[in-house]
Amino acid sequence: MRSLGLSIRARLALWHACVLTLIVCAFSAGILIFVKAGLFEGLDRQLHRALATIDWVYHNEPDDIGNLATESGITLFRLTVDGKLRYQTEGWEREGLARSLRGGGSIPPKSWTVEDGRHYRVQAIAEPSYTIAAAIDESSLRDTLWTLAAILAMGIPFAVGLAIAAGYFLAGRVLSPVGTMADKARRITANSLGERLPVGNPRDEFGRLATVFNDTLAHLHDSFDRLNRFTADASHELRTPLTAMRSVGEVALQGPPDASKYREVIGSMLEEVDRLTRLVESLLVLTRADSGAAAPAREVVELAAIASEVTDHLRVLAEEKQQSLSVQTVARVQAVCDPAILRLGLMNLLHNAIKFTPKGGAIRVRAKATASGHPSIEVEDTGPGIPVAHRERIFERFYRADPARARESGGAGLGLAIARWAVAANGGRIELESEESRGSLFRIVLPGVA
Ligand code: ADP
Repeated sequence: MRSLGLSIRARLALWHACVLTLIVCAFSAGILIFVKAGLFEGLDRQLHRALATIDWVYHNEPDDIGNLATESGITLFRLTVDGKLRYQTEGWEREGLARSLRGGGSIPPKSWTVEDGRHYRVQAIAEPSYTIAAAIDESSLRDTLWTLAAILAMGIPFAVGLAIAAGYFLAGRVLSPVGTMADKARRITANSLGERLPVGNPRDEFGRLATVFNDTLAHLHDSFDRLNRFTADASHELRTPLTAMRSVGEVALQGPPDASKYREVIGSMLEEVDRLTRLVESLLVLTRADSGAAAPAREVVELAAIASEVTDHLRVLAEEKQQSLSVQTVARVQAVCDPAILRLGLMNLLHNAIKFTPKGGAIRVRAKATASGHPSIEVEDTGPGIPVAHRERIFERFYRADPARARESGGAGLGLAIARWAVAANGGRIELESEESRGSLFRIVLPGVA
């Protein structure tokens, strides 16, 4: 059934009515057939008894045969002996029943319509020397059947009408939670994502639908919150260097023109521009990561090669701080990952180690298999370590354990968030072991080659 623009409530009611009509019709037809068969069976038994009585009277009291019609109520019968008519009730000839027996011999019970439209049940038994035929009026039986049919025919439209009304009412009741949910959902906007749909019975279909919808809303709410926080933090981080540049510029413009002062101001502005560029680049990496635009490649990568490459790249920074930077690698530590993304993650960890370890400290990078056999890269430093209170949160965006010190070193609190994404995108995880004042160890654990 096509929807025809009808509401679900109306369609449910119609379907209900159609199915019920079919059932009622089939049931009524069954009743009619059953009752008809029962009534005719009774009539045939009556006919059989009448024939037996006539037969008995013919053999035992042949003279009384004429009284049978008045005394026993067998009003229509005929007896022929040796082909000649012996007795026939008056009505037999009048109703033209003789023609029903054309052909002679025994005739099983059958219905016969006479000229005036009346119906009789007729049967004949034939013996070698005589034949008895009897008939019973079927009218009252037919009347009963017609009355029954009329009652059923009148009852069906009534039942169908009732079914439509009851179906419509019940469908309305059953579907009412959907209306409530729709009203509520219509009122939920980006500013009210904290609201939830009402869940009547969490175990029924609508309850489950509302629960799923609520879960989706919760995820959306969470994403929206994170996005808002991210935007607010990013704006804050962008504003700091911009404000610094503005005030440096304004101060420089106030005094008399001085080339060396301008040089100094431009130098410090370029430093702020560098900081801004790094921040924007990090934001771009994270935004791309969030959008899932870059699907990581899956290559077999030699971790020793990546560790050496990244260490060489950042060695100059360690040398500036007179730190010792060493790489210890074991050959054939292989992982399946995207080398470019992994490089980015490792770069951030190593950059942090150099940044936070004081002058003259030591940093070690190791590529090796963990105790459980997974390929890993460790970055260990002799820096200040990370207090327990901050360990859970340092991977969050814009989180800094010591904001003053971190900002001083040019960090916006995005390095570890990028590292975590880079490793997770490759199916791995970052572990942290740190003791306060005794350095930290970040371990990238990756999936091995199957
Ligand atoms: P930032 O830009 O501040 O370096 P990160 O996300 O890279 O941001 O790091 C978050 C915070 O974690 C840092 O501010 C710092 O407090 C702490 N941290 C990260 N790496 C180290 C490390 N190797 N030693 C000590 N503290 C670290």
